Amino acid sequence: MSRLDSLNFDNTYTRLPTNFYRRVMPTPIKKPHHVHWNTALANSLGIELPVDDLQLLIDASTGNALLPGSDPIAMKYTGHQFGIFNPELGDGRGLLLGEIIDPQQQRWDIHLKGAGQTPYSRQGDGRAVLRSTIREYLCSEAMHGLGIPTTRALNISGSREPVYRERVETAATLLRLAKTHIRFGHFEYFASIRDNNGLEALANYTIDQLFPEYGDARDKHELLLKAAIERTARLIAQWQSIGFCHGVMNTDNMSIAGDTFDYGPFAFLDDFKADYICNHSDYQGRYAFNQQPGIGFWNTRCLASAMAPLIGAKKSEDLLACYEPAFHQQIQKELSAKLGLALHEEQDNLLIRDLLQLLHSQKVDYTIFFRQLCDFHSEDDPGKVRDLFPDRNLFDKWARRYTHRLLRENIAADARQQAMRTKNPLYILRNYMLQQAIDEAEKGDFAMIDTLLTMVRSPFTGQEEMERYAGFPPDWGKHMEISCSS
Ligand code: AMP
Ligand code: MG
Repeated sequence: MSRLDSLNFDNTYTRLPTNFYRRVMPTPIKKPHHVHWNTALANSLGIELPVDDLQLLIDASTGNALLPGSDPIAMKYTGHQFGIFNPELGDGRGLLLGEIIDPQQQRWDIHLKGAGQTPYSRQGDGRAVLRSTIREYLCSEAMHGLGIPTTRALNISGSREPVYRERVETAATLLRLAKTHIRFGHFEYFASIRDNNGLEALANYTIDQLFPEYGDARDKHELLLKAAIERTARLIAQWQSIGFCHGVMNTDNMSIAGDTFDYGPFAFLDDFKADYICNHSDYQGRYAFNQQPGIGFWNTRCLASAMAPLIGAKKSEDLLACYEPAFHQQIQKELSAKLGLALHEEQDNLLIRDLLQLLHSQKVDYTIFFRQLCDFHSEDDPGKVRDLFPDRNLFDKWARRYTHRLLRENIAADARQQAMRTKNPLYILRNYMLQQAIDEAEKGDFAMIDTLLTMVRSPFTGQEEMERYAGFPPDWGKHMEISCSS
């Protein structure tokens, strides 16, 4: 274990040309205090919190003091926001402090979100608020617990410094860890200023950091694009199957590593509503739940077009054909596993499609449905799941088909049910839970952050005293409108 203040920081991004970033010091934050430290993540990274020195953590995690070796920079990128290219983007309220290598030899960027203004802040104050840092902290750990690729979150610190959003809130900072902070928008930046040397340096750097195995290949840039396209497709298939809605799938929020990135107005579905819009600023429903696979493709097209100068317009366009099969393969795998289908049959797609339509029309809770389906035996002995449907007859019709399909699986019922319980979570991080944790935290009580963190780490296993979180959301907590402002 290394102490927090003796980590071997490096910042390899600073060795790239100077138009890649600006060096910026964090703006000190007034009266900072401790909110939450992610002990389990720290342990896996080999980082020890000096228990005797909480002040060190508070200072380091707010940018009031710099950890040795860190070299804070604001990265420059651009991106398509709601379909429109914005050349002005970059780290406007976060700084890349540096990188560490964990005991498994995995490299991690450490980014301080809420570090104050940078040259890319535009009109923004450079701050993050306690509400949004709690949402990101818990949701990134929830995604990790569900086995979905994501950035991670190591620490939240708070402060009494007021920050003006739709109301007065307080400032907070988040230590975010990621395999990389390079977004599709980084590539779009160099393409937009026609800096092909920059584009090439960025691609080579990304390969070095993420895909060293491609380093010697003549077609390494193609391999990079292909990997990004396929990883994005698979990621969105995983989101869809768990019922996760990313609220702002702008290209500046898409990680080149294919990890879930930038948790703003996200939501896990309560009732299955195929066209659910979780971001109340998304007036057109561009990022509605059922639009996300198509938007993922749209975003990879932006990336392919940005990388065209490196690999040729035709080749980059051709590579886009990888998206759809990667998406379909993954979603089929995920949904079949949720239904306990180990064999693959042509007709399964219809069974799944009809089920989703039924869940939508009957407004059935997505997570609870699949968890209760783990107790289903047959149409004659369906268990509690049948009662989730206002029209039981409609469920019975589907259940008959499902029962016949299960007969063709050559696995014992209890083994299938056990396998299904490892794919269908008992707990999901619903927005109402986050809201309760935020309300408590704003009053100075951080206990619920700890409870929810414990819950989301093991979402598939029943945990003592968590029973209330396995149930339906309260009426007030359904379809909460989540604001973009964070
Ligand atoms: P986001 O909506 O968080 O994905 O951010 C989009 C862009 O706005 C990025 O370039 C951010 O750095 C920038 N940004 C968001 N919030 C702020 C803020 N409070 N101050 C400065 N820049 C911000
Ligand atoms: Mg963003």
